[in-house]
Amino acid sequence: AAGAVRATPPAALEVLTRVWGYDAFRGQQAEVIDTLVRGDDALVLMPTGGGKSLCYQIPALVREGTGVVVSPLIALMHDQVDALEQLGVRAAYLNSTQTVEERRAVEGRLLAGELDLLYLAPERLPAAADLLDRARIALFAVDEAHCVAQWGHDFRPDYLGLTLLHDRWPRVPRIALTATATAETREEIVRNLRLDGARVFVSSFDRPNIQYRVGPKKDARRQLLQLVRTEHSGEAGIVYCLSRASVERTAEWLAAQGVPALPYHAGLPAEVRAQHQTRFLREDGIVMVATIAFGMGIDKPDVRFVAHLDLPKSVEGYYQETGRAGRDGLPSTAWLAYGLQDVVQQRRMIEDGEGDRQRKRAQTLHLDAMLALCETVQCRRQQLLRYFGEDSGPCGNCDTCLSPPEAFDGTVPAQKLLSTVVRLDRERGQQFGAGHLVDILLGRETERVVRMRHTELTTFGIGTELGEQEWRGVVRQLLAQGLLQVQGEYGVLALTPAAGEVLRGQREVRLRREPERGRTVRTPRT
Ligand code: ADP
Ligand code: ZN
Repeated sequence: AAGAVRATPPAALEVLTRVWGYDAFRGQQAEVIDTLVRGDDALVLMPTGGGKSLCYQIPALVREGTGVVVSPLIALMHDQVDALEQLGVRAAYLNSTQTVEERRAVEGRLLAGELDLLYLAPERLPAAADLLDRARIALFAVDEAHCVAQWGHDFRPDYLGLTLLHDRWPRVPRIALTATATAETREEIVRNLRLDGARVFVSSFDRPNIQYRVGPKKDARRQLLQLVRTEHSGEAGIVYCLSRASVERTAEWLAAQGVPALPYHAGLPAEVRAQHQTRFLREDGIVMVATIAFGMGIDKPDVRFVAHLDLPKSVEGYYQETGRAGRDGLPSTAWLAYGLQDVVQQRRMIEDGEGDRQRKRAQTLHLDAMLALCETVQCRRQQLLRYFGEDSGPCGNCDTCLSPPEAFDGTVPAQKLLSTVVRLDRERGQQFGAGHLVDILLGRETERVVRMRHTELTTFGIGTELGEQEWRGVVRQLLAQGLLQVQGEYGVLALTPAAGEVLRGQREVRLRREPERGRTVRTPRT
């Protein structure tokens, strides 16, 4: 049965000060809490660190009964419950790590009305339904609600079962919370959780204290070491790598260079993971080298940098991962190095991966948006926020604002490159990658160029107006813009239908020229 309203909103402020010791609500917290206390549903889109937890914890205390929180992060339930108990809140969790006796004890407290908050893993909901029927429930909170979005970046099938909340307890108010906010994700949450009547609260997703930087990858580990030594020495950070192997290699290498780095990925034994996580949280200046398995729900306020050594698969993922920096509001860095190989690799992973055509198409769109963010000549933050439907001006605190790249008419270089690809394409059965293309354009008589008689191509040596790195940048950007594609297991470059328009002079190509090398990003004056 739905709990009745026990007190009016002033009670919420009273709880905030008495239990949490804070003196005012932040942003839209007060309105969200009001909505729940009144018994209405809410959908809350708020960035990491925005204060989502209080949005359901306080109504759970104000309303009669227990607030049931569905959270996908079993590993963190224990910490969350601990933290609440220290504040004097009566909290518990039910998950698969507990013994039967432990579970019975929690169930007893729930039925006796002795719990303010109960945390539940989504897969336990069906089994717990009869129990919940016998309890007084103040509200349901669905944390990390974007996990219900099937075409999102973090889908969890168990979340689809959460329609039960609406169907079985239609009178209990529900709140869904997420730090992912694209319009598509929002619509899917509303649809899949049956939240049609919910009030939607969207906070600004801007994280002004984070400086966004994206640069071309040369020797990623050395570039990272440079960043750590010159700007973040002795500070805590997270380094994201795509594979477990590169996590381990990178952590080892950093440690050998004197950086206190630890690896974290799903393939490590649970004790090792727990130990590394604890050290990261408790000690100062640990650098966690991890796959994206690490970080969700990690509440460490003083992470000073998040570095990506490989390209994230989506803007949402990038935003969430970088969002783990600077939760305390102090200046922090989001740093990403990416190169041609990243584009090739990600496209191939989509191609070879599981899922139907529609799923692959969604993944391709996610990747394209991420590439567009990398190749933009505009303010990174502006572009990032626009992706989440927010308008803003240039920020003055990202790499493109601080050292503006040049945008130039790259139609002619693009035509030179594309027509070289066309000519090579005629040599069936041959595998040519970007390096060979650049050798031809620069007129280099390498052994392979000579042996293949590519000195005789009309495009041999016609590209000396650009250097090697710049040509690689052109290849990357043409891939990003969908004018080139990668085929086969060796990453052979081929034209897309759109490339024909460029070759026929019907389409202009805008390219980004990297700012001078060696120029460091200036610190903004605030
Ligand atoms: P999120 O879940 O959105 O990432 P949290 O709920 O963990 O954010 O809150 C982030 C931090 O902000 C926490 O340390 C929390 O105690 C603090 N916080 C939340 N609301 C307030 C407030 N009204 N006043 C002061 N601190 C707050
Ligand atoms: Zn900017």
